[in-house]
Amino acid sequence: KPARKFVVGNWKMHGNLAALPVLGAIDAAARETPAVDVGVAVPATLITAAWQTANAIHVGAQDIHPADKGAHTGCLSAPMVKDAGAAFTIVGHSECRAGRQESDDEVRGKAEAARRHGLSVILCVGEPLEVREAGQAEAVVRAQLENCLPADADGAWLSVAYEPIWAIGTGRSATQDDIAAMHAVLRETCRAALGPAGDGVRLLYGGSVTPANAAEILATPNVDGVLVGGASLTAETFLPIIAHA
Ligand code: PEP
Repeated sequence: KPARKFVVGNWKMHGNLAALPVLGAIDAAARETPAVDVGVAVPATLITAAWQTANAIHVGAQDIHPADKGAHTGCLSAPMVKDAGAAFTIVGHSECRAGRQESDDEVRGKAEAARRHGLSVILCVGEPLEVREAGQAEAVVRAQLENCLPADADGAWLSVAYEPIWAIGTGRSATQDDIAAMHAVLRETCRAALGPAGDGVRLLYGGSVTPANAAEILATPNVDGVLVGGASLTAETFLPIIAHA
């Protein structure tokens, strides 16, 4: 069973060098909370400065390309973000999947590339509203995870984040019952694909996590952490979430 909770911020396209003091405050909080793993996926422009500023948190990238190098204008590879100071990367975020028509195969390729270059991975899955309303959420998310999961994955480097698309940035988080039901499906899927190693994969919930709902979400069965967008942008909102873990 995963022992330590993992609280991760995703800054998306927010923050420049002037935001480093926020990272410093998060780092100080992480140092005082040694039983919790804390990460922040910063914009790529901040990875090196973040890595130089912070030493108690894991600094991450928000996305990578599956190839190591090549004619891919505007993209960054696993060895590039690793070289810049990243310890992990998010892959398969719904904003990337939708914006770039990313397939599950491509997301799996990104996770495998990260693994090859010594990066940990947060692999995101999640359904759109119409799929949930049609009663298909569990089947769709299960298939998404089966298709994206690298064959040799284990909890030493892989976490899976369940992020229902209708809950991201909307202020409407999933209910505790819905999270528990989906995370049971994710756990089963990890076990079926990876054997006992599937028990060690940390399962994070993401989607409108706030200081007000974090404690309940983090106490849900099979929730080993949270992936936090908007509320990770200020110390006032992110530090209480770390404290709840
Ligand atoms: C996210 O995009 O990973 C996310 C969970 O965003 P928010 O917390 O703002 O809903």
